[in-house]
Amino acid sequence: MAKKSYGLETEIVHSKFTDDPHKASVAPLYQTATFKQKSLTEMGEYDYTRSGNPTRTHLQNNLARIMKANDAFAVTSGMGCLDVITKMLSPGDEVIAGDDLYGGTHRLLTYLKDKGDLKVAHYDTTNTKLIQAKVTTNTKMIFLESPTNPLIKVVDVKSIADHAHQVNPDCIIVFDNTMMSPVLMTPLDLGVDIQYESATKYLNGHHDIMAGVIATRSSKLAERIYYVINATGCGLAPYDCWLLSRGLKTLAIRVERQEQNCQRVAEFLQKIGFKVRYTGLESHPQHELHQSMCRGHGAVLSFETGSIKVSEKICELTDIFGISVSFGCVNSLISMPCQMSHASIDAKTREERALPEDLIRLCIGIENVEDLIDDLTKALLKAGAVKINSKDELYNAVSVQVQAKL
Ligand SMILES: *Cc1c(COP(=O)(O)O)cnc(C)c1O
Repeated sequence: MAKKSYGLETEIVHSKFTDDPHKASVAPLYQTATFKQKSLTEMGEYDYTRSGNPTRTHLQNNLARIMKANDAFAVTSGMGCLDVITKMLSPGDEVIAGDDLYGGTHRLLTYLKDKGDLKVAHYDTTNTKLIQAKVTTNTKMIFLESPTNPLIKVVDVKSIADHAHQVNPDCIIVFDNTMMSPVLMTPLDLGVDIQYESATKYLNGHHDIMAGVIATRSSKLAERIYYVINATGCGLAPYDCWLLSRGLKTLAIRVERQEQNCQRVAEFLQKIGFKVRYTGLESHPQHELHQSMCRGHGAVLSFETGSIKVSEKICELTDIFGISVSFGCVNSLISMPCQMSHASIDAKTREERALPEDLIRLCIGIENVEDLIDDLTKALLKAGAVKINSKDELYNAVSVQVQAKL
């Protein structure tokens, strides 16, 4: 009988777990480093947690299903994923990377480049023709991320992947899907060979663990990925696997609510005159490209105020928005990327990449959206970010509930 497949929301909740002798409703936590053998010569399925643990297997099987991969691997962080993936390369290998990657990604690639391990070239990945022109038979890997943050640049994943595979069938396309999560995007359907995600963000959703997930459809790549994870010992610890499995169950509904809230906040900020970057707005130059690849827009947006000082004040004047790096959590966060998450990129490079120093990034949570807009409105007014003569517009942009509180 053909296996029945359900909608993603159902698959996420309906975690397959059948082999517990006590029929536990929740997959048990195997908090153990070692497993006994049946006899001196008979090995069981597990022997040592670095190599494998049932709690990790359970999580990985669920992740593989929702990422539409054949294999998924849970490791200690998002950067741990990139470390594993780059360890598959050989000295002197040429790789291409985006120019607006996550700060930590940029740092690790630069470290490997400066040591002479890799040849890394960064390009503007919104320029599909440019990237295509730069791919040669020597290009071993291409690192993509979409939308990037905080600049919210969108990459035409399929055009780049298809072209690269044509030029060099062995070129490995690596995609960081942290911003969209498996709910909103299936990069493996777009020609990506290896997808990874910081599970510290949406997958876990509660900012109480760090984790990363690597997924692929290729059994050859899966074998190499597993080899590195087992050899280096970066597999996710059982308790963190258990927590991630728990957080994962609400992924679909969290992302749905966060996105709805984010769309409202983006429209509000745009309406009162800020330059807002969010793919959910039709004003985003790559709104359509993004929609052709994804099922939604996520919950991270950025906007400019025109003044570093004003931006700083706004961040400090909000009550609900916590000043914090990261995103994907149930609560809303505010940050200034140039001073926080992207501080590891030097000022000169930031300028070259047109990263505005006054940029504010908002990561929207699942709170009551009127409260979020209310909180932002108060901070914008107090910081002097909206002029008095545009107060009417501000008034028109917020809801009746918010108006009543102003
Ligand atoms: C946070 C993040 C990472 C790194 O993940 P960690 O779990 O913090 O190591 C990588 N890529 C993106 C896009 C991220 O936001």
